[in-house]
Amino acid sequence: MPPLELKFLTEDARLIELARLYWELDQEGKRFPHQLKNLAPDFSVPANKILDTVLETCEAFSPEIACETCGRSRSYRSRSDYSEAQRHYRRYGSWQCWDCYMEEERRRREEERRRRELAEQQALALRRHHKELIRKAYAREEGRDYLLPTELSLTSAVYLLSGIKAGGPVRDHRPRSFWEPPAESIEEPEVFSPRIIKGISPTKAFDEEILDRLKARGLAAVSPESEPEAFEFYDDSIVGYDTEKVLWQLLPDVPADERPSFVRQVKERLGRREYKNWHDEWPRLWKQIAVAECLQFLVCTLNDCGYSYTPDAEASDLFGNLIDNYSLAQVFRQIDKATRDFADFARQQRWPMRAGRAVGQLRGNVEYYRSQGWEIFAFCYRPMSPARSAISKVFFNTTLGIGEEYFFKAPQDAGLPEIHTEEEA
Ligand SMILES: [Zn+2]
Repeated sequence: MPPLELKFLTEDARLIELARLYWELDQEGKRFPHQLKNLAPDFSVPANKILDTVLETCEAFSPEIACETCGRSRSYRSRSDYSEAQRHYRRYGSWQCWDCYMEEERRRREEERRRRELAEQQALALRRHHKELIRKAYAREEGRDYLLPTELSLTSAVYLLSGIKAGGPVRDHRPRSFWEPPAESIEEPEVFSPRIIKGISPTKAFDEEILDRLKARGLAAVSPESEPEAFEFYDDSIVGYDTEKVLWQLLPDVPADERPSFVRQVKERLGRREYKNWHDEWPRLWKQIAVAECLQFLVCTLNDCGYSYTPDAEASDLFGNLIDNYSLAQVFRQIDKATRDFADFARQQRWPMRAGRAVGQLRGNVEYYRSQGWEIFAFCYRPMSPARSAISKVFFNTTLGIGEEYFFKAPQDAGLPEIHTEEEA
């Protein structure tokens, strides 16, 4: 079989001869013996025009190489095209024409698009199904009883106000002039819209405890409008949710127009310190908040030194002890010192050291200062970070009417309600 077949589109003998010579191959069918520069003078065609002239007057195609899809013979646009086609065919043993290749690509893309569309539709359907499950699971029947402001314990009241304050003031979307201070009123209706609530307290564990308690008391509820991404599903049931991702509805059972006045009454009662459980609950809550602040500050200072640390029981116990006797300003200063001592020591060691050892360093430092009868020094300013949490602002502002000052005062000097032990009570 000849490697090339020619089909002439002209009757002009000279042009047919030119095309024949152009496409003529040597014995092995690999090389073209007639060079363009030699053909040019014989046919009075410039060398750079020969190819165009040949293509206009003659089609060259292969009797052997045909498209595997449509069976059309491989045609050639130039000698190098021919050589390239031969190499490709020897290597792969098949060839596909451009049109068939494009058609196949188009079909592949179409198939891909349809698969993606189907997957999207399925995901959408699943999401709708999940939304429906959430809507059913968290639907709240009308007219449920709710605790009155006078029935809330101190802890529940503080948790509720902190939940309302958490996440910063809810801003409206009206553009406001820059000298106008942002509204921070709890009476804005948006605080009672279903919303994400996080950063109530200094630690995530404490936040979860707060939301759990509010939920148990009917003071907060997971909103049926929450996004499915906030939940964990198993088959057709909801098996869990992320407290920081679901939308929370505060005071779900209180009629919407009565919520602001409900909150106002709670605040007023806290301000008047008329809680029946005041003396039992106040010290416990103060301590819980203060310990959480210490844990947060420890995590923060260790982070600054390049250590990641998850607070454990050892740290909570230690801070619980220190907070009974020292102000936050003192404990923070000791945390800062112990963390830096630990980081200096750790840098000199060959092996990486556990960040939790900073807690041991802190205990050791304080015990030593005590045994020497030394003063436990305090920060004379509150560090900028971490910022005070919503619960600490609410608790100290509403129950004592003091803001920052509590930071610098040990419990016994702060004019705080007295801490009664079991025996004294
Ligand atoms: Zn084809």
